[in-house]
Amino acid sequence: MDFTNFFKTEEKCHKYLKSILWQEGKYCPFCGTDKIHEYDSNFKKNRCYSCKQDFSIRKGTIFDSSRISLQKWFMCTYLVNSNKKGISSCQLANQVGITQKSAWFVLQRIREACQSNDFTNPFNGITEIDEAYLGGKEENRHAKDKKLTGRKEKAVIIGLVNRDTKQVKALKVVSSEAEYLLPKIYMNVADNSTIITDTLQAYKPLKKHYTHKTVKHSMGEYVKNDSRVAFKIHTNTIEGFWGELKRGIKGIYHWASHKHIQKYCNEFAYRYNNREMKNNERFVDFLSGVANTKLTYKTLTA
Ligand SMILES: [Zn+2]
Repeated sequence: MDFTNFFKTEEKCHKYLKSILWQEGKYCPFCGTDKIHEYDSNFKKNRCYSCKQDFSIRKGTIFDSSRISLQKWFMCTYLVNSNKKGISSCQLANQVGITQKSAWFVLQRIREACQSNDFTNPFNGITEIDEAYLGGKEENRHAKDKKLTGRKEKAVIIGLVNRDTKQVKALKVVSSEAEYLLPKIYMNVADNSTIITDTLQAYKPLKKHYTHKTVKHSMGEYVKNDSRVAFKIHTNTIEGFWGELKRGIKGIYHWASHKHIQKYCNEFAYRYNNREMKNNERFVDFLSGVANTKLTYKTLTA
């Protein structure tokens, strides 16, 4: 209620988005200059003195080229970022009063923006790494077939969680073979860090660049005590994240296609990484990352 009350006009939303995106000064989304004239008393229209273009603050953000009002976009953004288990396009359509097709598009764009925020710095220190197998047809998941047919149809995701910062990254890979897993690890974990994995063969070369510790899940080993190190050897933190992600995809999204699965991962990782924030803080943090996301309906459905 407070939220809808605060953003009760389109003008208020424009003004608010400006206050977030122009925190360090105004800029033109076309040429980058700060010579901007806000010529509209209700904050919706701006003109660049340099390249002479007219634009709204939505230009170049995930809210660009959309007929949905900023009020509704804000509401969607808030709902997605506050629902721990995620929200389906049906639920979102109902709650905000847009079509399901629109809601689906809105969700994809929001997930895309979740990525831009935190895929930059490599992890340092103790990092747990594990793979997960997601999506695929549920009816093929009889215990007996799980390992064979089930895995083939599922998308493989590699998950990394830093024990110190409690930040997670979840990245789709082609398969769980070393040639696909290792480059993701090299890119996302700084050299000489400590990595904990299970005993999957593909992780063996890690010891060349890292301190590599393992737990033998196949032997029922989940926490290993090693007196030579001051930390516990387990991958329970990343397993916890997989639990959330799997429950979310199963309960809300039912079936996540391989093409879009990275975006679901982004959404869950974003909420996980910012779980200490209050809902309104997470909303503001999210808004600060909405610019420069180039995603059109065409690229989504192609
Ligand atoms: Zn310009």
